[in-house]
Amino acid sequence: MKNCILILILLTATGILRAQKARKAIFVIADGIPADVIESQKTPALKEIAKEGGYARAYVGGEKDGYSQSPTISAVGYNSLLTGTWANKHNVWDNDITAPNYNYWNVFRLLETQYPKKKTAVFSTWLDNRTKLVGSEAKAAGNLQPDYFLDGLELDTIRFPHDTAGYFYYLIDETVTDKAAETIRKSAPDLTWIYLEYTDEMGHRHGDGDKMNDAVEKMDKQIGRIREAMKYREKNFKEDWVIFITTDHGRDSLKGHDHGGQSDRERTTWIVTDAADLNERFTKQRPGIVDILPTLTRFLQLTMTRERLREVDGVSLTGKLSATDAKAVYRKDKIRVTWKPILQKGLARVYLSTTDSFAIGGHDKYRLVQQVPVANGATEFDVSKYPSEVYKISIEMPYNLLNTRIVIGKKN
Ligand SMILES: [Zn+2]
Repeated sequence: MKNCILILILLTATGILRAQKARKAIFVIADGIPADVIESQKTPALKEIAKEGGYARAYVGGEKDGYSQSPTISAVGYNSLLTGTWANKHNVWDNDITAPNYNYWNVFRLLETQYPKKKTAVFSTWLDNRTKLVGSEAKAAGNLQPDYFLDGLELDTIRFPHDTAGYFYYLIDETVTDKAAETIRKSAPDLTWIYLEYTDEMGHRHGDGDKMNDAVEKMDKQIGRIREAMKYREKNFKEDWVIFITTDHGRDSLKGHDHGGQSDRERTTWIVTDAADLNERFTKQRPGIVDILPTLTRFLQLTMTRERLREVDGVSLTGKLSATDAKAVYRKDKIRVTWKPILQKGLARVYLSTTDSFAIGGHDKYRLVQQVPVANGATEFDVSKYPSEVYKISIEMPYNLLNTRIVIGKKN
C-alpha cells in the first residue's frame, strides 16, 4: 500500500513537472522537394528527428477531382498548412495571394487570440508569408505582427546580389536559418515558422539531379542547426519543443522542373517530426498537409470553437482518433457518408448544414441527422426536405471530429 502511494505521488509529481513545461512549436516548409528525392538523399538531421517521432509520406492538393482539389503551388500549400483547410476555403489559388479568405483563421491567429502574450516568429525569404498569409498587413486577418521576424531578403539586392545560378537563394536561406536559430536560443518563441526556398529554385532551374540533391543536403544541414537550438533550450529551460518539417508540393515526373498539377508525384509530399504520440493517421495512412494545423493546436493546447472545428479539413497526427477520411455522396435526395473507423467505440453523430455562411463571416445552423456506431463506418439519410446547393457535414465522434461537404455540380 505504502509503495502504491509513493508511486502515485511520484507519478503526480512527474505529471506536474511535465505540465509546467512551456510548449514550443516549430514548423518548417522546405520548398518543392518530392518524397522520392528526400528519401534518396543523405539527410542525417531529418533522420535524427524522425528517430524521435517519425517520417511519413504525405499529400497536398486536396481531394483529387473533388470539391477541395487544390493546385500543387507553393502559397496554396503554405496556407493549407497554416489554416488546416484546402483552397476551396482559404481561397489562395496561386502565388499572387489576391484574396485570401481570412475567416479561416491560421494557427498564428488562433494562438494570439487565446494567448495574447505568447510569442510568434516568422523567418522566410518571401515577404508575403508574413504580410499576406499570416496577414500582418491585412485588417481582415487581424493585422497580427509576429514578435520576431526576418523576411523579404530577396528584395535586398545589395546584400544578396542576384547571381544567374540562383545561389543567392541559398545565402538567404542561410541567413534565415541563422536568425531563426539565434531567436530560438535567445527568445524561444512559442510558435515559429521557418521557410526555406533554395530547393525549389534548384528544382525549377535544373530539375531532378545533382543540383537538387545538393540543395536537399544543404537544407538538411540548416535543419540540423535549428534542431541544435531546440536541444539547447530543452536542456537549459523547462520547455517542451516539437518540430514539423514538410514540403509544399512535389514536382512533375518528367524531369522535375515544374509543379502545379495533380500528378501523383506533384501531390506526394512528406512530413518529418519528433512529435511523441503519433497516431495511425501518421504511421499507417497518408497524412495531408492540412493535418499539421490540428496537430499544432493540440500540442499548443489551443481550443477552437465548434464552428471553427467544423471547418478544419485535417485531423491531428497525435493522440487518439475515432476515424478519418469522411466522404459524402449525394444521390437522388439521399446523402451517403462514409469514414474509416480507427478506435471503434462510441457513436458518430452526423450533423448537417445547408448553408455556408461561415465563408463570409456568418454562422451556420447544424441539425443532427443521424447517430450510429463509429464502427459502422457509414450512414445514409434523406435530404429531400432540405434542398440546397451545398451540404456541409460534420461528424462528431468520441475522439475527433470529421468534416466533409457536398457541392452540387462538383464531384465528391
Ligand atoms: Zn513551392
